[in-house]
Amino acid sequence: APTETPQVVIDAHGLPYLDSKLPIKKRVADLVKRMSLEEKAGQMTQAERGGIGTGADIATYDLGSLLSGGGSTPTPNTAAAWAKMIDSFQLRAQATRFQIPLIYGVDAVHGHNNLAGATIMPHNIGIGATRDPQLAEKTGSVTASEVRATGVPWDFAPCLCVTRDERWGRSYESFGEDPALVQSMETMIQGLQGAANGKQLKDDDKVLATAKHFVGDGGTAYGSSTTGTYTIDQGVTTVTRQQLEAIHLAPYQTAVDRGIGTVMPSYSSLDIVGDGLGPVKMHARADMINGVLKNRMGFDGFVISDWNAIDQLPGDYAAHVDTAVDAGVDMMMVPYSYKDFSSTLIAEVKAGHVTQKRIDDAVSRILTQKFKLGLFEKPYADTSNAAQIGSTSHRAVARQAAAESQVLLKNAGGVLPLKKSQKVYVAGSNADDLGNQTGGWTITWQGSSGTNTTGTTILQGMKNAGGDVTYSKDASAPTSGYDVGVVVVGETPYAEGIGDVGNGNDLTLTPADQAAVDKVCAAMKCAVLIVSGRPQLIGDRLPKIDAVVASWLPGTEGDGVADVLYGKRSFTGQLPVTWPKSEAQLPINVGDTTYDPQFPYGWGLTTSKAPAGGASTLKALEAAAGKARSAETGKALVTQARLIVQQKVGQNITAAVSKPFADADHLLLTGKYAAAVKKLEEAYKVA
Ligand code: BGC
Repeated sequence: APTETPQVVIDAHGLPYLDSKLPIKKRVADLVKRMSLEEKAGQMTQAERGGIGTGADIATYDLGSLLSGGGSTPTPNTAAAWAKMIDSFQLRAQATRFQIPLIYGVDAVHGHNNLAGATIMPHNIGIGATRDPQLAEKTGSVTASEVRATGVPWDFAPCLCVTRDERWGRSYESFGEDPALVQSMETMIQGLQGAANGKQLKDDDKVLATAKHFVGDGGTAYGSSTTGTYTIDQGVTTVTRQQLEAIHLAPYQTAVDRGIGTVMPSYSSLDIVGDGLGPVKMHARADMINGVLKNRMGFDGFVISDWNAIDQLPGDYAAHVDTAVDAGVDMMMVPYSYKDFSSTLIAEVKAGHVTQKRIDDAVSRILTQKFKLGLFEKPYADTSNAAQIGSTSHRAVARQAAAESQVLLKNAGGVLPLKKSQKVYVAGSNADDLGNQTGGWTITWQGSSGTNTTGTTILQGMKNAGGDVTYSKDASAPTSGYDVGVVVVGETPYAEGIGDVGNGNDLTLTPADQAAVDKVCAAMKCAVLIVSGRPQLIGDRLPKIDAVVASWLPGTEGDGVADVLYGKRSFTGQLPVTWPKSEAQLPINVGDTTYDPQFPYGWGLTTSKAPAGGASTLKALEAAAGKARSAETGKALVTQARLIVQQKVGQNITAAVSKPFADADHLLLTGKYAAAVKKLEEAYKVA
C-alpha cells in the first residue's frame, strides 16, 4: 500500500457494506441506498488515466473506473511502476465518502501486452488454430496472473468476434470463423476469471474478463460505408435473425454460462434482415443488450461501452447518454469526456429522461463485480506474483501455444521437420523480427516492428534448437550449398481498422517477401512460414514452394515455432479460418454453399507418423466414433480420419473435397463425431 495516508472524509467502518462476511447482494443494496446521484453517476464513468490531470478528479467526480486503452497515453513499462500508478489512483478513491475502490482496466488481449517483459501469447487466431481448449485456458491463467500482479483487476478480453471476412483488421483477435470454434476456446474465460461462480475473482492471480464486441463485430461487410471509405471495421453487419443467433450470438450464451463478468458492445451497427429498422449502432440496441444479453441470456455482470462509442450515436450529447444507458450500457468508457458524461447523466436523471431505477441497476451491477474482486478489502496492488511476470514457467505456456498454433498447409517431400545436420538458409521480413511476430496490441496499440520487448524471434529459436542456420533477410547472400531454405514472410503490425495499409491491405505478400520466396525456392528445397494476422494469397507461388506453414502471430516465444520446425514436437494446428485463393472469394467461410478455397477450414498436416488406412479404415472409425464415450476419444478418432483423408487429397484440394472436409471440423466441434467422420469419408471418396 502507498505510504501517504489517505484523507478519509468519514469513517465508513462498521457500515454493513464494508462487512466482508455479509452476502454481496446485501452489501450492494446497503451501499447503493446511501449513495447520492452524483456518486452513482461517477460509478458509471470510466476515464483514461492520462486524461485526469493530477488525479484530483477521481474524488471530485467520484470516478468508478480508469483505463489504459489502446489509444491511451503511453503506459508505464515496469510492473512496479504499474502498481505504484494504480495505488496512487486508489489512494484518491479511498479519500471519497464511501471509499469505493476504482476498477482499473486494460486490453491484455494476448498476455499482459502493455507491459515490457511480459509473456506474450499468440494472438487469438493462433489459439483457435491449436484446437486445444485446455491450452486456451492456461494462456488465460498466465495472462490473469501477470495482469493482476501489476495491480490491474480487469481485462478487456477475450474478443468473441467470429471473423467472417479476413479483410477486417481485427481478424487476428478472433479465434476463427466458426462459432463452434470460438465457443470451444472460451475456456480462456475460466483461465482469466477462475470458476464460473466468480469465487476466485478475489484471488491474486485472477481478473475480471470482458466478452467483446457484442454482437456481430466479425460480420461487418467490406466496404459498407456511408462515407466511401473502407469501414469493414466498425461497419455494418447484415444478417438474418437465424444467422445472428447461430453465428454471432451463440458465443455470448457460452460466455454467460461461464460467468463472464463484463461485456463490451461493438462499435458496429447491426442490420437484421426483415425487421425494417435498417442498421442500428450496437450501443443503441436495447433489444440486444437489455433484451437478449441481460434478460434472455441472464447476463448479470455489467456492460462497459467501447472507447468513445456513445459519440457515434445519433442526436445531441444528451441523446447519446440516454440512448446508451437505456439500451443497457452500465459503464461508459468516456476517456476524455468524463465530466460531460457524468454531468449530462445527472441532468438527464433529474429531468426524468433516465430513471433512477435504471441508474441503481447499473451501479449495483458494477459494485457487485467490485465486491467479487475483493477490491473493498484489498484496493491496493498485490504484487506477490510479480516475480512470475515473463517467468520461465509462463513462457513455457506461450511456447507450447506458439508450437500448437502452427498450421502445416503443405509438406511436399517431407521437407519439414528440419534436421540439425542440414545447412539451412533463412530469409524473409519476419524471420528475425519480434515486433512483427507479436503483432498489434503489443507494448503499443498498433504494435511496432523490431525489438519491442523480451522474447525470441523465430530465427533465434532455430539457433537455440541447434540448427545450422545462415540468415539473409533479403536473400541477397549467395544461395548455393544449402540443404533447405526457410523463408519467413508476412505482415507488419496493425490494430483495428483494415490492416497493414502500408502493405496495401490486399492480403498479398510485399514485393520484398515475394522476391525472397522466389529466389530461395528457385535455388533449393524450401519452406515458407507466413507470420500474419490472416491468410495471405500465395496460390501463384504454391507450386514452387515445398512446404507452407501458417504461423499467425505467435508471440514472444519463437522457440515454440522452432520446436515444430525441428521436430521436437509435431505440427498439430488446424486452420481456424478458410484460406482463400483470391480476394474475389471473400467472404469465404465454412458452411458456404459454394466453397472452393486454397485450403479448407480445418486443414492441417502433421509431421508425426501419419496413420495408414483407406475407405474401410474410415468406415471403422465412423463406427467407433458413434460409440465414443468421451469427447477425447471422439476427437482422436476424427483426427485419425482427417489425417488419412489429407494424405489421400495431397495438393488436389478441389471444391468437392473442401466442402465436406471443412464441415467435418465444424461437426467435431459440436460433438458429432460419427457425422464428422462420415463427411471425411465423402471427401476421401471424391479425392
Ligand atoms: C477497442 C476495444 C478496446 C478499447 C479500449 C477500442 O478502440 O475497440 O476493443 O477494448 O478500445 O482500448
